[in-house]
Amino acid sequence: MLKFDNRFLRTLPGDANPRNHARQVQGAFWSRVAPTSVAAPRLIAYSPEVAAALGLSDAQMHSSEMVNALSGNGMLPGMEPYATVYGGHQFGNWAGQLGDGRAIFLGEVIAPRLGGVEQRYELQLKGAGPTPYSRRADGRAVLRSSIREFLCSEAMHHLGVPTTRALSLVLTGDEVERDMFYDGNAAPEPGAIVCRTAPTFIRFGHFELPASRGEAALLKQLVDFTIANYFPHLAALPEAERVAAWFGEVCVSTAQLIAQWMRVGFVHGVMNTDNMSILGLTIDYGPYGWVDNFDPGWTPNTTDAGGKRYAFGRQPGVAQWNLARLGAALSTLDVSAEAMATALAKFESTYGTEIARVFSEKFGLYQWADAEGDLMDDAFMLMNDAEIDMTIFFRTLATASQVDEFAAAFYLPGQWTQSREKIAAWFARYTTLCTEQNPTPEQRAARIKRMNEANPKYVLRNYLAQQAIDAAHQGDTSKITELLDVMRYPYDEQPGREAFAQKRPDWARHKAGCSMLSCSS
Ligand code: AMP
Ligand code: MG
Repeated sequence: MLKFDNRFLRTLPGDANPRNHARQVQGAFWSRVAPTSVAAPRLIAYSPEVAAALGLSDAQMHSSEMVNALSGNGMLPGMEPYATVYGGHQFGNWAGQLGDGRAIFLGEVIAPRLGGVEQRYELQLKGAGPTPYSRRADGRAVLRSSIREFLCSEAMHHLGVPTTRALSLVLTGDEVERDMFYDGNAAPEPGAIVCRTAPTFIRFGHFELPASRGEAALLKQLVDFTIANYFPHLAALPEAERVAAWFGEVCVSTAQLIAQWMRVGFVHGVMNTDNMSILGLTIDYGPYGWVDNFDPGWTPNTTDAGGKRYAFGRQPGVAQWNLARLGAALSTLDVSAEAMATALAKFESTYGTEIARVFSEKFGLYQWADAEGDLMDDAFMLMNDAEIDMTIFFRTLATASQVDEFAAAFYLPGQWTQSREKIAAWFARYTTLCTEQNPTPEQRAARIKRMNEANPKYVLRNYLAQQAIDAAHQGDTSKITELLDVMRYPYDEQPGREAFAQKRPDWARHKAGCSMLSCSS
């Protein structure tokens, strides 16, 4: 039912050792490794769009062969399981060899053509058992983190943010031990496996590892493979220019990605270089979070609570730092330092342009200065100081006719009373600018439409995902599908589903999974 052509295996050197034990692997990019069987696999959710893109019908998704393949209990013809090796900078430090410790590739699918163009997707099981890159960990994933990855990758896609996708979510029937609070109290939790897809899962860390080991020929092979298959329009460039031109494109797509994260209020939480996609996709959903009250200093990751390296407002700077690490790795090849510096500078210029465009759409303004100052900066200041919900604030802004409509975006009633006058003053300036910029009724209607396309009503708030997780732990998996369905239309009003657009309730303010998350997943 699926046609495979596994180019990564076919083209790049692999590890000769067929055994599955933790080790350093040099001179290769992958090791063959089979998933470990699970006790009682049950498909509990899948993405209808991803299944359709792969050419899979509902009946095929539910077939026992497919459920076995999606849980690691069997292989479909053409599947060749393997794990890849990469390195990475974690929290600013070089961490050496990492690799797919709990991800196992099934292969690369040649999917039905779209508009006459061939589509290919790698399939990867997350949580299917140990690999040579598992180090001391178990290669498994718990249900809560699998629900979060499944829902968020699809939610991001429907928001228009580049991302890896999730085909399926399977309960394994096995238990997995996790110390969720890192307090010595490990407890068994239900295990699960997500099958995720992307044109490629190649990360910055795939290039960093051979560069760190002085394996220049190996690094060159991967660069050539990446350009030939994923950036074919650059393949004809003279050798001396090709690498820098390609690196420049990675800088541009990464800048575009981060501007999109900032638009929707997404915080990745672990922006290590091993979690950075070479295609500018959101990858590796772990302790990510969505800002509720607008706060550039907020990080969802408990491990990051001290340094806040990966806080919402720091994401652009960290992405640039990560790109500099990739650039340094590529500079071990025969490239011009000047061309690489020019390429890296594209991050800053692209991000600057993109973020201005994105927020211009979110605010519905063509320019944002008035006699009193910068209207956008002033709004950010107000939102930060008064703990205003980012998503509700922007969604309200499109059609608000008077200031009291913003009351619903406040978390603390006291702050609303205190800041009402300030908000009213800001809103009066805003309304004046909007009217100046949109004098005709047609322009006003177009502005509302534009804003509603940039400001989602529904995002995967941390507490919403947690409610679906809690229900699943009680045996009710229907909430996962329901939430997925809401997140498929984030910009639509969806009458009857307003509950999913509510700001974080009080009970969720300090609850684990709703405000802070650990990496232990
Ligand atoms: P992350 O920061 O979560 O993307 O993970 C960093 C590294 O740890 C990657 O190489 C993962 O494959 C590995 N890793 C994380 N969790 C596990 C696990 N449960 N078993 C094996 N490897 C893991
Ligand atoms: Mg990772």
